[in-house]
Amino acid sequence: MTHSTDPNLSLFERAKALIPGGVNSPVRAFRAVGGTPRFIARAQGPYMWDAGGKQYIDYIGSWGPMILGHGHPAVLEAVQKAALDGFSFGAPTEREVELAEEIIRHVPSMEMIRLVSSGTEAGMSAIRLARGATGRSKIIKFNGCYHGHADSLLVKAGSGLATFGHATSAGVPPEVVQHTLVLEYNDVAQLEEAFALHGKEVACVIMEPIAGNMNFVRASVPFMRRARELCTQNSALLVIDEVMTGFRVALGGAQSVYAQAIPGFQPDLTVLGKVIGGGMPLAAFGGPRAIMEQLAPLGPVYQAGTLSGNPVATACGLATLREISQPGFYEQLATRTRQLTDGLAGAAKAAGVPFCADSQGGMFGFFLLPELPQNYPEVLKTEGARFNQLFHGLLERGVYIAPALYEACFVSAAHSAEDIAQTVDTAAQVFQTLT
Ligand code: PLP
Repeated sequence: MTHSTDPNLSLFERAKALIPGGVNSPVRAFRAVGGTPRFIARAQGPYMWDAGGKQYIDYIGSWGPMILGHGHPAVLEAVQKAALDGFSFGAPTEREVELAEEIIRHVPSMEMIRLVSSGTEAGMSAIRLARGATGRSKIIKFNGCYHGHADSLLVKAGSGLATFGHATSAGVPPEVVQHTLVLEYNDVAQLEEAFALHGKEVACVIMEPIAGNMNFVRASVPFMRRARELCTQNSALLVIDEVMTGFRVALGGAQSVYAQAIPGFQPDLTVLGKVIGGGMPLAAFGGPRAIMEQLAPLGPVYQAGTLSGNPVATACGLATLREISQPGFYEQLATRTRQLTDGLAGAAKAAGVPFCADSQGGMFGFFLLPELPQNYPEVLKTEGARFNQLFHGLLERGVYIAPALYEACFVSAAHSAEDIAQTVDTAAQVFQTLT
């Protein structure tokens, strides 16, 4: 038997014997890009160190939450203090109220909010609430948008508008997904047709406003406007999944960005996660009082959680939100992010590699394509093998981006101009090696 000297590899072998695929969430296994996942030992600011002590500039940020970078002193202090007071009480706390106030202050479409522990739970509960509040069963989602792994949302498109979706996971009965209609993102005509056929049966449309689960694809303004109009006209709810974009692309989330282009724009329900927990398990959903009061214990829609509003998680989220609501925070974050995407674009051009990128606040995506895609089939035109070469070239040189071409990446406030410049220099070297 040979023993590896790479601690990541030996940890991966140990993990695979006990944990399916060696990971507790599939994308961490590097299945798309191949190779050995890095087992992270610690992180500080914009950097992470793996089990072998190798340092990386981190552009994953725990898949979005770490907007301040790792180990921000104010957040650490708040978490340490909260932990000393007790981990979990299963009873209400003042900090839950403070966090609710802080979130609602910045996202005015939410009059009331409920805290939960994961984005999946928040999205699933929002769908149940939409169905309960409207008394309807059907939901519309979009190809390439991810809303967590609840049964009714793990669905791919059926063969036409009249047919509903097929489950994308084994273990999801066809009856469960028969009410989920999957349409192409940014396709106004298809959405109109779907409402013409099914409008009065649709409980809600759920969408990522900037889809970060197909890398980075914005909903076009006409698409978002039409989705809002069609929901209103058909008394269906518009559910905006801001698990990734909330407090990441702007203080008011992506909905505040769309409200600049569509006067008065507001979703009915908003789903939040990631940044609002600052790296702890915390998520939320919220909306108008009349809808939210349909939830138990006031109304007939059941939802609950042992660890919901956990005291340590709320302390972490609250400290994070207080830091990011400082004036100028998002301007600086957006500038850093653009420095990175502009730098990468320049380096790719110099190497003759097709490249395009987009960003909003501290979230960005790039494609090895000449033009930004508008939907998932277009995203998948990127050559996987080329992306994988790029990914591994960067990783070997200490730059850690998402290990799949259909995932967005993130810049934190801890990334300095030097970190960005070093990343661009590294990418310039790797672009030269791409075949
Ligand atoms: N919604 C969106 C837009 C997401 O990006 C994610 C996770 O990446 C989820 C929902 C699910 O959140 P969680 O992984 O916390 O369950």
